[in-house]
Amino acid sequence: MSDPAAPARPTPAPMPADPGLPERPDRAGEPTVTGPATTIDDLVSNNAAYADALAPAHLPVEPARRIVIVTCMDSRIDVFAALGLHNGEAHIVRNAGGVITDDMIRSLAISQRKLGTREIMLIHHTDCGMQKVSDDAFRAELQEATGIAPAFAIESFTDVEADVRQSILRVRRSSFVPYRDVVRGFVYDVDTHLLSEVECP
Ligand SMILES: [Zn+2]
Repeated sequence: MSDPAAPARPTPAPMPADPGLPERPDRAGEPTVTGPATTIDDLVSNNAAYADALAPAHLPVEPARRIVIVTCMDSRIDVFAALGLHNGEAHIVRNAGGVITDDMIRSLAISQRKLGTREIMLIHHTDCGMQKVSDDAFRAELQEATGIAPAFAIESFTDVEADVRQSILRVRRSSFVPYRDVVRGFVYDVDTHLLSEVECP
């Protein structure tokens, strides 16, 4: 029963139109699968080929180069290729913006205290999606769409180098992270693929 004194629930904003997913192409010899093809289907198939081509091998859980790299979820940063890293050598921790949030500190604490890493490399990048939103506008958008203001900070930024320095300072000031002598920050240019270091006195 509705309470006439209760405030009306906000009407959710309409979701953007879904452009639709392509139909799964017929595959000879495979059972007919109904439903739209998804990228995940492709990736599972890619994985089967990947596993097939590799001999089984077990690497230690501790990264061999004893480094953790914090970067953005951006789809154009191929961390292993861009840094010449190989499987088993580094922890890679990513979120929107490569921002040092509480959850990122949690990962850094585990990485150093339980899995032996000693250096921290922070990589932000040019043309980041987090430069295209504002904290206030996105917070308002979420609240308008759902009726709930998020408990988390949005962490957008405009000046990428200033945000790298902010991230370095957050790591340096966290005693949950015991090894803070080697914490360096960089901006990766998504067009030239070059890193440039950001000094943080
Ligand atoms: Zn980004």
